[in-house]
Amino acid sequence: MLSYQHAYHAGNQADLHKHMVLAELLTFLTQKPRPITYIETHAGRGLYDLASPEALKTGEAEFGIGTAKGGDHPYFEIIDEIRERHGASAYPGSPLIAQSMLRPIDQLHLFELHPQEHAALKSNLAAPNTSVHFRDGFTGVLALSPPKSNAGLVLIDPSYEVKTEYALTGLFALDLAKLWPKATIVIWYPILPAARHHELLSIVSPLNPFVDEYHFGDKNQRGMSGSGLILINPVPGADQQLARVRALLGHT
Ligand code: SAM
Repeated sequence: MLSYQHAYHAGNQADLHKHMVLAELLTFLTQKPRPITYIETHAGRGLYDLASPEALKTGEAEFGIGTAKGGDHPYFEIIDEIRERHGASAYPGSPLIAQSMLRPIDQLHLFELHPQEHAALKSNLAAPNTSVHFRDGFTGVLALSPPKSNAGLVLIDPSYEVKTEYALTGLFALDLAKLWPKATIVIWYPILPAARHHELLSIVSPLNPFVDEYHFGDKNQRGMSGSGLILINPVPGADQQLARVRALLGHT
């Protein structure tokens, strides 16, 4: 099922959380001279317009990037850079944030299965170091792992349209960690009243993950009340990175 479209949710509070943490991790990973490989299992279109009918229909960005105070952080530098290039209502998806931070020596592999999202991603992210794959992200990433560079990050950001995706995501992370033990693995999940993320957390618990949650609503409300991130093999200093992001989000 591919009915989910990120254009309705781009720039919301969950994106802020996920994208700020991603920017922190990539800042660390690109400090050393050796090349890294960045992979996304569920990439989306990479660039969004917050003035589009989809974004305006939900109004979610207004409570996310619309209320963010800004600050001295690579995430905000990228937002400014993207808006200079694409206009004041542009918002970068995770693939574009990563591409903006990586160097020509680094490689990106982006998987997207929705035909229109894939076509948009291919055009938005065209660059010599970037491969855009029209393929299931889980099987595609396992086929590439471990990459030659061996250092790198895999972002797993499914839409959780079907409830089995929580377990599938956890099992995929176990397989990936076995094939590519050096990878920093980041899994995003929504906090919803059904709390199905507990199943995901329980499956990945043998990998000793860091778990970071940003609660922005009442847990009994309809819909998403928070955003969760699971970090497996986090970079050194990840606890300080997460604390910095929490401070920027005004979340203690
Ligand atoms: N990571 C993106 C960001 O933060 O900008 C948002 C990704 S969005 C939550 C999930 C995307 O996964 C959708 O564009 C959807 O079409 C795509 N998708 C769904 N199932 C997939 C699969 N099996 N393999 C690859 N992509 C898939």
